Amino acid sequence: MGARSSWPFARSALRQFNLLLSFNRSPLANTVRCNSTVAAAAEPAETAKSPIQILRTIAELRFWRREQLVKGLAVGLIPTMGALHAGHMRLVQSSMRMNDKTVVSIFVNPSQFAPSEDLASYPRDFDADIEQLAALEGDDGARVDVVFAPRVDEIYPNGIPLDVAEQKGAFVTVHGLSEQLEGKIRPHFFRGVATVVSKLLNIVTPDRVYFGQKDIQQTVVVKRLVQDLCSGTVVHVVPTSRDANGLALSSRNAYLTDQTKQDAAVIYKSLQNAAMVYRQNTSADKIIEAVVSTITEKFDKNDIEYVSVNDKDTLEELQTVHPLKGAIVSLAVRVPNRFGGKTRLIDNILL
Ligand code: AMP
Repeated sequence: MGARSSWPFARSALRQFNLLLSFNRSPLANTVRCNSTVAAAAEPAETAKSPIQILRTIAELRFWRREQLVKGLAVGLIPTMGALHAGHMRLVQSSMRMNDKTVVSIFVNPSQFAPSEDLASYPRDFDADIEQLAALEGDDGARVDVVFAPRVDEIYPNGIPLDVAEQKGAFVTVHGLSEQLEGKIRPHFFRGVATVVSKLLNIVTPDRVYFGQKDIQQTVVVKRLVQDLCSGTVVHVVPTSRDANGLALSSRNAYLTDQTKQDAAVIYKSLQNAAMVYRQNTSADKIIEAVVSTITEKFDKNDIEYVSVNDKDTLEELQTVHPLKGAIVSLAVRVPNRFGGKTRLIDNILL
């Protein structure tokens, strides 16, 4: 521990600003502007036919939740933004194993998107999501019981302009864990995440809530949120699900070309190389070097936004990894997408 270690070691403010402006931009992303209050862009499609109860309002969800409480049944919640894939399903299956009832929320949360980001074009396919969830069956016949798919104005009744300066009302910030790594590139992202997770926990009051290791900083933020706000919910973290070539599954992989998906195998390879280096050498610089040199086999060095070695609980940047404590190695890289622009991919491993 000691001096901070991350890559790139120095980057100009201007470059960060430019990256932010071009973040994940697709042709549609430009349609959501600073002043816009989100409405239609994030609305769920009309209800698909399925055995799952689809609840749209807080009142309906609370009514359902009270029934489970009276029956003494344990409830698990999986917060998602939809466009579900096998990674989401792993979280749902974990909940089905551990709880009597499982709620999946599908809500594209505007407050975690910057005005320059892809809220308008974020992939949405409600019917396909319901179909996938309805097809899941646990060993003991467990199923997904409820999908909570509220409208934006149900969650943000006063509106939710994407420009933070225009937002009014209560928002939740987890100070100290939201500013580094992803938070450096996306300064209001974890405020949005912490706010919507707080709302969902207040609405559903689940016994357990499930998050993916894929978004590791999010898990650290949520664990602290739950602890500091005295929530009774237990947070479970589920390992990252990957494609056969190692690419971490993500709804945004839909933006990638087939070629990029193939090339993106170097991302996980770089993390595996980092783990190999760590077995010989606990220096964060050496670990980071291994990641950078592997990623640059396929992608431009300038498109690596960060590679960092951090403490698992405090997210402090480490110079050396203590073998008894381990660390998070995480990265973000911008890869070519099928719109002719770049899409950010993030990944991590635990040492
Ligand atoms: P999202 O819909 O992207 O907000 O993701 C909802 C939840 O699924 C989050 O807790 C994510 O970390 C988790 N998740 C997304 N992709 C994966 C993956 N490949 N493996 C495990 N969990 C994932």
